[in-house]
Amino acid sequence: MTASPTPRYRVAVVGGGPAGSVCALTLARQGMQAVLLIEAGDYTQFRIGESLPPSANPLLHELGLAPAFLEQGHAPCHGSCSYWGSAQRGYNDALMDPLGHGWHLDRARFNRLLAAQAQQAGAELRMLTTLASSAPAGSGGFYLQLETDHQQSTVHADFVVDASGARAVFARQRGSRKLDTLPLVCLAMRFAPPADFPQSGLTHLEAVEHGWWYAAHLPDASLLLTFYSDAATVKALRLQHPERWLSALAAAPNTARLAGDSAPLAMEVLSFPAPSYRLDRLHGADWIAIGDAACAYDPITSQGIVKAISNGITAAQTIHERASAACANGIAEDYRRYLVMRNTYYNWEQRWPNAPFWRRLQQNSLDQPMMQLSSL
Ligand SMILES: Cc1cc2nc3c(=O)[nH]c(=O)nc-3n(C[C@H](O)[C@H](O)[C@H](O)COP(=O)(O)OP(=O)(O)OC[C@H]3O[C@@H](n4cnc5c(N)ncnc54)[C@H](O)[C@@H]3O)c2cc1C
Repeated sequence: MTASPTPRYRVAVVGGGPAGSVCALTLARQGMQAVLLIEAGDYTQFRIGESLPPSANPLLHELGLAPAFLEQGHAPCHGSCSYWGSAQRGYNDALMDPLGHGWHLDRARFNRLLAAQAQQAGAELRMLTTLASSAPAGSGGFYLQLETDHQQSTVHADFVVDASGARAVFARQRGSRKLDTLPLVCLAMRFAPPADFPQSGLTHLEAVEHGWWYAAHLPDASLLLTFYSDAATVKALRLQHPERWLSALAAAPNTARLAGDSAPLAMEVLSFPAPSYRLDRLHGADWIAIGDAACAYDPITSQGIVKAISNGITAAQTIHERASAACANGIAEDYRRYLVMRNTYYNWEQRWPNAPFWRRLQQNSLDQPMMQLSSL
């Protein structure tokens, strides 16, 4: 009996989040055959990261996804309301934004839409499949070892796009390392508001001594409340315990008022690492990293999904033109601009100069330039 030949793909995209799905979709739409999209999950689990700013609207139009997106019933977000830098409430209103309003997503549903669109365009989607290991093929490209619950297989890809998010699984197998890591942690709980509870349609932010609170109403009418701090503060204050987390909530006057009589859906604090970083090497011969595999932005910016979609589009175009270095340089340049923005946000808050959280974040930014407030 002869062994069957190793399946061969022009491009394998590792990770079916926004970056990977949009890259596979764009490649397939450009007419590229044999595009493989490999996704470890199956889009049924709750996913954090739901604020989509107005700048996503033109991207969804460009991709021809606006009608399907609107059908999904995500919740409009009309701006943000923040207590940052002072106890006074500040508004950032989407009313005057020429790009329209933003969105609070059902994130799992949104991710599923993007992957399904890539599949419809002709990419092969393998869900519940994980990239375990990889090795350069002598003839160019890579051999990828894939795993499901019940089997292992090998494919050959002429080019690999690492869109595996914070795991950066393929790029790290090529020797890339994470730099500039800022170990932020997100501690989340979901609440059921009372039936007559008014839904503001705004994103809520409140800075407090040990970090900052973020809240959004999700499309299923639940209220998502999250607390962001650094790993050392979370450990010192034992904030991963529901009773400690709820005490911290009670001490944040504006977020506690927003939560009102809402009841937790479960007495469990969900914990998500939310580090910022960039890879030291974003591309190599026959591969590139995009989205959070390449670099991750602090969730305070709400720019991660837009960055992932933009990277996916640009990477597909540059793969076509064999110009991945240009795409990687663009990602690195955007990251430098992001650092300036992040440092500016965190340095606006000067009420707790001795609190370890703010000291660490502001210390981290000492070597980085800040934006002039007037240029924001
Ligand atoms: C707590 C938190 C809150 C956030 N909030 C926001 C927000 O409100 N707005 C915003 O714009 N951004 C937010 N972000 C950032 C945003 O979620 C990311 O920037 C965005 O998801 C990046 O998309 P991506 O496709 O690059 O990676 P991901 O969305 O992480 O997708 C990577 C995919 O790769 C898959 N994968 C991983 N390893 C493998 C493997 N070995 N084999 C196969 N598949 C694999 C994963 O299952 C996943 O589906 C937040 C991030 C965090 C951590």
